[in-house]
Amino acid sequence: MRVSRIRVLTVASILSISVNTQADIRELVPESVLKQIAEEISGVEAKRNLDTLTLYHRMRASAQFDEASAHVLRALQHYGMDEAGIIEFAADGETMYGTQKSRPVWQVEFAELWELTGKDNERVRQRRIGSWDAMPMSLAQDSLSGEVTATLVDVGAGTTDEDYAGRNIDGRLVLTSSQPGDIVDRAVGKFGAAGIISYAPNQKSAWWKQDDRLVRWGHMGSFPKTKSFAFMISLQEARNLQLRLGQGEDIHFHAKVIAEHRIGKHSYVHAAITGADPERVSEEIILTCHMDHPRPGANDNASGCVSILEVARSLKTLIDAEILPRPARTIRFLWPAEIEGSIMYLAEHPHAHLIKANIHMDMVGGGPDTKAVFRISGGPISVPTFIADVGHEIGHFINAQTEAFAGGAEVAFPLTSPEGGKEPLLALMEGIDMGSDHDVFREGTWQIPGLYLHDWPDRYIHTNFDTAANIDPTKLKRAAFIGAVSAYFLANMSENDVPAVLSLLKRNALKRSAELIEMRMQLEHADAEAVTNIHWQAERGKLNSISEFADVLKSDRSIAIAYLRNLADLVGSPSADSQSPGDDTVYERNADIRGPMRAFGYSYLTDKYTEERYDELKLPKHTGTNGTGGEYVYEALNLVNGNRTVTDIRNWLTAELGPVPIEYVSEYLQALESVNVIRVR
Ligand SMILES: [Zn+2]
Repeated sequence: MRVSRIRVLTVASILSISVNTQADIRELVPESVLKQIAEEISGVEAKRNLDTLTLYHRMRASAQFDEASAHVLRALQHYGMDEAGIIEFAADGETMYGTQKSRPVWQVEFAELWELTGKDNERVRQRRIGSWDAMPMSLAQDSLSGEVTATLVDVGAGTTDEDYAGRNIDGRLVLTSSQPGDIVDRAVGKFGAAGIISYAPNQKSAWWKQDDRLVRWGHMGSFPKTKSFAFMISLQEARNLQLRLGQGEDIHFHAKVIAEHRIGKHSYVHAAITGADPERVSEEIILTCHMDHPRPGANDNASGCVSILEVARSLKTLIDAEILPRPARTIRFLWPAEIEGSIMYLAEHPHAHLIKANIHMDMVGGGPDTKAVFRISGGPISVPTFIADVGHEIGHFINAQTEAFAGGAEVAFPLTSPEGGKEPLLALMEGIDMGSDHDVFREGTWQIPGLYLHDWPDRYIHTNFDTAANIDPTKLKRAAFIGAVSAYFLANMSENDVPAVLSLLKRNALKRSAELIEMRMQLEHADAEAVTNIHWQAERGKLNSISEFADVLKSDRSIAIAYLRNLADLVGSPSADSQSPGDDTVYERNADIRGPMRAFGYSYLTDKYTEERYDELKLPKHTGTNGTGGEYVYEALNLVNGNRTVTDIRNWLTAELGPVPIEYVSEYLQALESVNVIRVR
């Protein structure tokens, strides 16, 4: 076989650039710095803070949310942070913060559910099934006042009229497997039920419905059409009730709820370590978590809250002791309510473009008992960034160190806690992975790159068994270490770091080109060609992202671009025999509508476009080889930039999530256009 001379040169140039470097995170952050951070971070201290947060039922804008915030604020003041305080937003059910309609306060005074025995006028309390004071999770969020003595009727899912057919519903309590908010308009609004008892199971995973002791977090609407209440019970309780109903028994309950929606405030803790460089102090790296969620909410998400708190304490301690120099940029910390708090924060932020990176932690404390698999997500393809590579490099480093340690080797970075596990971290490195506040930061409005650290699955998520006892201090230490190292590196990053970052990007580009070859083997020719083209655009996007942090020398940039071009030549590209029809429309974002289409407890798109019409759209229901409908619609809008055609956007979606018909993308973007979120350029 004849190999052309030019091809040999190309291979040689690729290899020569890739050698001569220490290929791990110590190339970017000196080992002495890593060591100091590792020794300072305490998983046990983080766990102790977690114990406190899990005492509170942390519903948005509630007294117990504020109690948890007060604990975090006291800790920050104790650590002597340069800045620590509370920022407030209206909780009035009206104010629009970007695409988030402010939800009102949900205030509960009392809620109990009792089963009764005895006849007619002599009924007495037999046993208590639900109690706000004992287990606040037993009352569905956003339940409102009501009191009734009534019998129970089982409506199954309760989501269609047939579930109610031939049954007397009026004035009774309905037992359902659905989330109460999904049936309240039908069960209570249409058929006149007095209230709801739900055994909706925990989130779907392999352990779904397996543990029948779990009581799941229930939801009613924050902007309800039908005002009512719902109690949440375990599957075990529901099965017992169903057995008795099946035997023809009349089961009597007394339910009483004193609760209301009212006007108040969303109050979020924030803190900062101020940057040292006058030219860069206004640029920020922001670490986030979400403070809200039902009690105990240990992994979701007291774990993320105490881990960023531990990052704050550790970096501040090291800086005050002059062990580490103060970073050039400011490192900020925020403890908001999930998604809605981040939208409020960014929508009201006067200089959001100065937020250079966001490191978000949501569920970072799980261990063998929760079945946790830890993930480091570098974000969606719509925001290509070198930060993903930095985060994954830290992850690979910890994986290698902790795996060797677990196997009995002596390593410099076992990253264990005295009260914690010794298992290897085994973190997965990912691209897009949606579900929390990072989606808001990465969204097309703000496009703030960063890392998302989280566990999935977790068999106790959103249930009364997400307890502090399951949380591993070693895991908290490792999450905090990743947060601290990446934040400190990014806060300091300058021209001096560019060569090491470029070298990392080159190594990874080589790796990713192999993944590209594998991926396009699954694709039609036309898609394989398009995906290849986008692959290199995304790689160049990663290179360009460095400029947000440091100037790249023209010569360095040319070398890096030439490297990618050589690699692209080597990998080649299939060429399609024919092109399928495209859509050349180019949209741009309406800058006045800021934020994601789905916020919390409120969806901008379904509000404006209507639920019925939204249900007819095909893109939200499309599942690709690598992604869900939720990811397709999120990225479809993010990719609108005033340059890409609808065909381009469809191809980017294909590269990231798997093939999708162009008509689905056109239809979805037309829906967005019809409600002025985007417009034809
Ligand atoms: Zn959650």
